[in-house]
Amino acid sequence: MTHDVAVIGAGVTGLSIAWHLLGAQDRSVVLFDGQGVGSGASSIQPGGVRQQWGTRMSCRLAIESFRFYEAFDTRLEAKVSPGLTKCGYLFVAETEAGRQQLADNVALQNSEGIMSRLVDGDEAADLVPGLNPEGITGASWHDQDGYFDRPLAIIGALHAGALERGVQIVDRNVQRLERGASAWKLTLSDGEVAFADNVVVAAAYATPELLASVGVDTPITKEPKYLFYSNPVAQRLLDPLAVFVDRHFAAKQLADGSMLASDLSANGDPDAMRNTWYRHIKESIRDRLPVLDLISFPVLVEGFYDVTPDKQPIVGPVTGHDGLWLAAGLNGRGLMMAPAFGRLVAEALTTGSLPEPLPELSLDRFAVDALTPEPQIV
Ligand SMILES: Cc1cc2nc3c(=O)[nH]c(=O)nc-3n(C[C@H](O)[C@H](O)[C@H](O)COP(=O)(O)OP(=O)(O)OC[C@H]3O[C@@H](n4cnc5c(N)ncnc54)[C@H](O)[C@@H]3O)c2cc1C
Repeated sequence: MTHDVAVIGAGVTGLSIAWHLLGAQDRSVVLFDGQGVGSGASSIQPGGVRQQWGTRMSCRLAIESFRFYEAFDTRLEAKVSPGLTKCGYLFVAETEAGRQQLADNVALQNSEGIMSRLVDGDEAADLVPGLNPEGITGASWHDQDGYFDRPLAIIGALHAGALERGVQIVDRNVQRLERGASAWKLTLSDGEVAFADNVVVAAAYATPELLASVGVDTPITKEPKYLFYSNPVAQRLLDPLAVFVDRHFAAKQLADGSMLASDLSANGDPDAMRNTWYRHIKESIRDRLPVLDLISFPVLVEGFYDVTPDKQPIVGPVTGHDGLWLAAGLNGRGLMMAPAFGRLVAEALTTGSLPEPLPELSLDRFAVDALTPEPQIV
C-alpha cells in the first residue's frame, strides 16, 4: 500500500500535522516514531506560550496558534484539559541595548495587534511582585502570554485526536528515505519498508541525518537546554514568567507550586557545570527576584532544542525532491507554534500551493542568504 502522507516524528509538530491533514481531506496518513509518541522535546517543555516575538512572521504564527489553543479543549474534545493560564510574560532588560530591542519588538508586536507594552522598572515590580526594580532599564509586558498547567495533555489530546481521525501510528524509526519511480520508499528500523507519495520529516534535531540519506544538507543542530526545578512551594510567589534578557535567566512558579528556573546560556557537561549554572541562578535570584531567595532547586532536567542559524524554523517542501517536506528547526517554540505549522503543511499538501509564510521558511533561504533572524529568543 502507498500512503498519501508519511509523517516522521510523533512530537507535537508531527502530531499537529497528522491531525490537521485528516481534518482537511480523507486520505491515508501514517506517523512513524520508534521512541514513542511525544518522546522528544515535546515531553520536556514546561508549557510556555507567548506572542511577544521580534519578527512579523513569528508574531503571526504565535497569534494563530494561541487562538487555536484558546479553543483547544472543545476542538480536540480533550479528556484532560491542558489548562491554559494567561499569567503574563515580563521580559526584563538591564542594559540600554536590551531595552531598545524590547522597544523595537513591542512596536512590531503592536502593529500586528499584540497588545504588549514597554514599562519601566517600577511598573515591572508592580506586575511581578517581588521583583527588584533597581537597575532595570525597561521591560516588555503582555498579559495574554501564558502557561499550560498540564502541557502533556496537549500531546495526549493530539495523539487521541489523530487516532480518532484515522492516522496510523507505527512505533518504528525511519532509517532511510529513497525516491522511487512513483513514490517515496521508507526503510524502517526493523528492515521493513513503507511507501508514501509525500513524506514530512518532523524529527527535530534528528532531521539532518534522515535528509542526508537523500543528499540534502539541513542546517539544524542539537543544542542542550537545562531546567532547574524546586519542590512544590505552598505560597504563590511568582505567577508571571519573568525573563531577564541580558543575563539569560528565567523563572516561573508552575501550577503545582514548583518553581522553574533556567540559565538559558547553560552549556557544557552537566556533571561538571551544574554548580556553575546553579550559582548563576541563585545570584540572579538574589539580584532580581529576592522573594525566591530561600528556594532551592534540587532537580535538573535536560532537553534539546533543534536550532537553525537564523533561529527560524524550516517548514515546507524540499526543492528538487518532489513530495519531500520538512517541519523542523523549531528553536524552542515548537509547542506554542505547532497549531499553525500543522494547518500550514496540511493546507499546502491539500491545495498544492504554499500559503504565507511558508516561502519565507523554506530550506532554500540558506543558499541565497535571505534570512530574517528572530531576535526575541530566550
Ligand atoms: C528545556 C526546554 C524547554 C522548552 N520550553 C518550551 C516552551 O515553554 N514552549 C514551547 O513552545 N516550546 C518549548 N520548548 C521547545 C519545544 O519543546 C520543541 O520545539 C517541540 O517540542 C518540538 O516538537 P517536535 O515535534 O518538532 O520535536 P520533538 O518533540 O523532539 O519530536 C521529534 C520526534 O521525532 C522522533 N524521531 C527522531 N528521529 C526519528 C526517526 N528517524 N524516525 C522516526 N521518528 C524519529 C523522536 O523520537 C521524537 O519523538 C522547549 C524545549 C526544551 C528542550
